Amino acid sequence: MRWVPEQCSSLGSGLSSVHRELQPSLPFDVGYVFVRHPRARRYVIRVADDGTVRVTIPRWGSRREAAAFAERERVWIEKQQLRRQHDDSRFEALSPEVELDLRRRAKRELPARLLQLAEANGLVVAHVSVRNQRWRWGSCSRRGHICLNWRLVQMPASVRDYVMVHELMHLRRMDHSPQFWKLVADLCPDFRAARAWLRSWPAGRSQPSERR
Ligand SMILES: [Zn+2]
Repeated sequence: MRWVPEQCSSLGSGLSSVHRELQPSLPFDVGYVFVRHPRARRYVIRVADDGTVRVTIPRWGSRREAAAFAERERVWIEKQQLRRQHDDSRFEALSPEVELDLRRRAKRELPARLLQLAEANGLVVAHVSVRNQRWRWGSCSRRGHICLNWRLVQMPASVRDYVMVHELMHLRRMDHSPQFWKLVADLCPDFRAARAWLRSWPAGRSQPSERR
């Protein structure tokens, strides 16, 4: 695998768009973490303060049922995530003009950079979107659709690249196993610093919500 020097091109224009309907429904998104727990007595959904969703599978349960449960609770999950946006102070208020300008720049620059990194590593991205995600920096679907948060355009290049590498490596592994982190580390040896940077982004901490 090869790391490529940063270089912005006009490649990005027209590549990004929002195609919500192309996104498989949420439980199949890697943003949902499924965890088997031998002592759990039932399926439990937890929404963390960063909006990530964790579904606990009891010993007798199946991932398929857990996904169906999460699907049924989707409205509740989205409500929890929205609630977090409201008491979330991590995003500074930008003037509408500045935000619009940044979002335009994001649509121009982020997909171009992502595709550059993909190509350098022999990966094929089916689709790139730049979105206004409040609780996630990026996501990758099983179909190879990568979504990037437009706010990445404001971040240091090393942090932005880490998020892109993270999502690209999900094309190889749809989990967060040690093997996955090894793939990330191979391309992004400093990924821990980038993660720490993202975590230190000021956020109003609140208790995770649970649904049983
Ligand atoms: Zn991930």
